[in-house]
Amino acid sequence: MTQALPLSTRVLVIGAGAMGSGIAHVAARAGHTVYLYDMSAEAVARGRAGIEKDLRFLVSKAKLSEADCAATLERVLPVTNLTDARDAGLAIEAIVERLDVKQALFKQLEEALPADAILATNTSSLSITAMAAPLARPQNVAGLHFFNPAPRMALVEIVAGLATDPAIADTLYATAKAWGKVPVHAKSTPGFIVNRVARPYYAEALRVLGEQAASPATLDALLRDGARFPMGPFELMDMIGHDVNFAVTRSVYDAYFGDKRFTPSLIQQDLVLAGRLGRKSGQGFYAYG
Ligand code: NAD
Repeated sequence: MTQALPLSTRVLVIGAGAMGSGIAHVAARAGHTVYLYDMSAEAVARGRAGIEKDLRFLVSKAKLSEADCAATLERVLPVTNLTDARDAGLAIEAIVERLDVKQALFKQLEEALPADAILATNTSSLSITAMAAPLARPQNVAGLHFFNPAPRMALVEIVAGLATDPAIADTLYATAKAWGKVPVHAKSTPGFIVNRVARPYYAEALRVLGEQAASPATLDALLRDGARFPMGPFELMDMIGHDVNFAVTRSVYDAYFGDKRFTPSLIQQDLVLAGRLGRKSGQGFYAYG
């Protein structure tokens, strides 16, 4: 049976935003030393502060001891230069949802890290095959797709592109399991499994709103309290971030050659253009104090 990566494997997380800081939290709690990298020291510090806040919350609920909280935080090492993480055996990127930017990052990682390092992406929708194609070692690339918030959501999609070494997908599967997650294997199709199936949930809600049939608050209440979804579609999009959600819809739409079922919404595009990205910018469908 394939083994999980040993705890001595150092993990590099690139992107200290909502997902990257959540993933760093998960890997550090499992016992790995985690390098946390972003474009600026401030962004890394913000991400690390977010991890500390989440860990402190667990302590306040008696779900984590003070000692484990301190030890976990000590394992999260801020880095502002990728070469400072050159002994990492696993890199997980959670940066902006753009293929060209992720490809450029993977080229840098291929140069900075050991030849056998696993290069994983938390992309929600982009092709793993395309992301790996310009690299010298495309077999080392796979999707490791966590859900938001990563410390709380159990599911992780392990996504194999055309060139992905099956042994690497198996190692990531075993590692996610060792980290307390519920992994599933998936192939690199647009949006993979969850984001593909969830697209119509957002799209139809946005169409109903476009027809002015009901307000976001009414629709959220109906679906959350009436239909028992954990969150209504508008509060969920505000949590995901409209920049991310819109980019995912566009990428799935393009990847299916303009299939109308995945047509992006002008309402959501407007929010992105206005910088109303949801919780992270303080305003989306709702205002956040
Ligand atoms: P975010 O905006 O919260 O964070 C992204 C971070 O990446 C920012 O701190 C930004 O400074 C940094 N960044 C951007 N470009 C970079 C670069 N070239 N080098 C280093 N750092 C860079 O975004 P997020 O919501 O955490 O999403 C990140 C990734 O995770 C995306 O690919 C997204 O599709 C995916 N994802 C998001 C969700 C979600 O619900 N938000 C869920 C699953 C997967």
